[in-house]
Amino acid sequence: MGKLSNTYFEKAKTLIPGGVNSPVRAFKSVGGNPVFIQSANGAYLKDVDGNEYIDLIGSWGPMLFGQAHPAIESAVREALSDGFSFGAPSLKEVLIAEKIVSMIPSIEKVRLVNSGTEATMAAIRLARAYTQRDKIIKFEGCYHGHGDSFLIAAGSGVATLGTPDSPGVTVSTARDTLTAVYNDLDSLRNLFDSNPGAIAAVIVEPVVGNMGLVIPAEGYLAGLRSLCDQHGALLIFDEVMTGFRQSASGYQGVCGVQPDLTTLGKIIGGGLPVGAYGGKAEIMDMIAPAGPVYQAGTLSGNPLATTAGLAMLNLITEDPDVYIRLAEKGNALASGIKSQLEKVGKRFTINQLGSMFTLFFTENAVNNFNDAKTADLNLFGQYFQGMLRRGIYLPPSQFESWFISDAIRDEEIDKILAASDATLTEMFS
Ligand code: PLP
Repeated sequence: MGKLSNTYFEKAKTLIPGGVNSPVRAFKSVGGNPVFIQSANGAYLKDVDGNEYIDLIGSWGPMLFGQAHPAIESAVREALSDGFSFGAPSLKEVLIAEKIVSMIPSIEKVRLVNSGTEATMAAIRLARAYTQRDKIIKFEGCYHGHGDSFLIAAGSGVATLGTPDSPGVTVSTARDTLTAVYNDLDSLRNLFDSNPGAIAAVIVEPVVGNMGLVIPAEGYLAGLRSLCDQHGALLIFDEVMTGFRQSASGYQGVCGVQPDLTTLGKIIGGGLPVGAYGGKAEIMDMIAPAGPVYQAGTLSGNPLATTAGLAMLNLITEDPDVYIRLAEKGNALASGIKSQLEKVGKRFTINQLGSMFTLFFTENAVNNFNDAKTADLNLFGQYFQGMLRRGIYLPPSQFESWFISDAIRDEEIDKILAASDATLTEMFS
């Protein structure tokens, strides 16, 4: 997109694998070189060449109120003067734990870590220890971070045993991860039936953000709950994306299904690196030093990260209507783009829930990963590039959700819709 971005990317490739510190940033699936960001404020990102973009990535979820929110910024500035890391207990850790416990009813105790990946890895270790069973079930297309147990290929059939999705993950690790089809209770039931007494936990994104946005069918999550109860397995909701994005009590607060354990990340750090896992006290008390399950972290509960997270959670509790506003913005985008698709004669699928949104370039309904994979990635790449040229920064993959922030006002919605209209017209007329 710009001269400096290209120069920096060429240099980055000589120093960092693929030039980026997280693969999706490299634009591999949409073509072209990534844009290097200089700064971010409110609804906007500014790149190193001086171009401005409306931000629909929102750091992949944390920026519920937009970039560099003044309340979070000033809290972090103030905390800075007290030091950066203690490696010893501090009050903010207790305050953020109290806040999380008060907001999410299924969480009685919580442990802070540094990323969503750490949270999910620790949660399954705990589930295995608690149930004294080895196997876990995840769903094809759900992402739970890059822990070995989760990098398992989307299986070809319901009862398919996992095979590693990445070199370096051992076959024996993969053997303990079974994959089921999302939104299909029978596929889960079959796995339970064929592995009696062996399943420690079922881990699920209650609303999936990592196939692109996929919404649970009515009653599906309650069905997961009762299958887990029937078979003595723990139910883990991975709310790293949905926690505090879909409601102030996570998606569990919306669907009314209580998991045994919940993993959190993104928003609870307000943009600084934080993750957490929590749940029933009886289970959480198995974690060291209260219990025998080891899990630790030099920077866990870091004072700057807990300050940012606490400021973010305070913003949410002081302004619960944020979710109403976010849903209105999401609805406006969905209905605007829907009529643009009608205008160009395309029946592509839009999945939207509150401030999460995906336009799938397929005419099939998208209820699981196989449906998502029917999308035309080439068309998505064209749309992405057309939007980028028009100043809209979308997540650079078909299999991701857009994240709408509260800093996006009517003015930005209009700009996004105008860019989308021009892009779709360019593509299909
Ligand atoms: N779980 C879910 C649902 C996620 O979306 C992600 C990341 O996007 C993770 C876990 C991993 O979190 P992190 O990237 O902070 O390790």
